Amino acid sequence: MNCINFHCHGCKKNGEGIQVVSYNLDEIDTQNIRKNCTVGIHPWQSSNPNVDQWLSQLEIISQSPNVLAIGEIGLDRLKGGSLELQNKILTAQANIAKNAGKPIIIHCVRAWSELIKTLSCSEFSSIKKAIHGFRGKVEMAKQLTDLGYYISFGSILVNATPELAETLTKIPLNRVFFETDDSSMPIEEVYSAAADILDMYIEDLIGITENNFNEFFDIKPA
Ligand SMILES: [Zn+2]
Repeated sequence: MNCINFHCHGCKKNGEGIQVVSYNLDEIDTQNIRKNCTVGIHPWQSSNPNVDQWLSQLEIISQSPNVLAIGEIGLDRLKGGSLELQNKILTAQANIAKNAGKPIIIHCVRAWSELIKTLSCSEFSSIKKAIHGFRGKVEMAKQLTDLGYYISFGSILVNATPELAETLTKIPLNRVFFETDDSSMPIEEVYSAAADILDMYIEDLIGITENNFNEFFDIKPA
């Protein structure tokens, strides 16, 4: 099955689908950048002493055609230094994404209003945005999709709470992605769980996410 894995770390290839591998600046081989990857400074690394150097590197790496997006970047109220500092690094990276004409993949924990405020400025309106590993409430998901964000769901769909299952059914399907993040679960299981929740054929869901993928990364089907 051709299940696209929207966001993973060091994931093993099993199946035919594209895997978008996410790297931090200290992990990526800049001489040999993997196809279909994303690169960014994670909010947990915002207070790292190398952050300025990483930002300059990111500016260069972001131009590589193998780098699909800048990410994961974002805000985390529970980890990674002050939100003020995280916001500064997020803003710097959103500027890099804008200049490179690439989307951003977002990690956000309990800082939704700050995130939306930062990314809603007119400068960043042209950037396509996706929240990865979403596990928030349906109201938040709707607010985000209304603002044009895409939402990616991870392995917790397999044991989804009724609230999370409801969230998946209430948002437009042309805004969804699925991912394994750092779980070792095969991506097919996430799609299968999502198809069950949505009461639809997994093949149809695969087709929908393929379209979303091409739309989000501005890929013209050959
Ligand atoms: Zn991740």
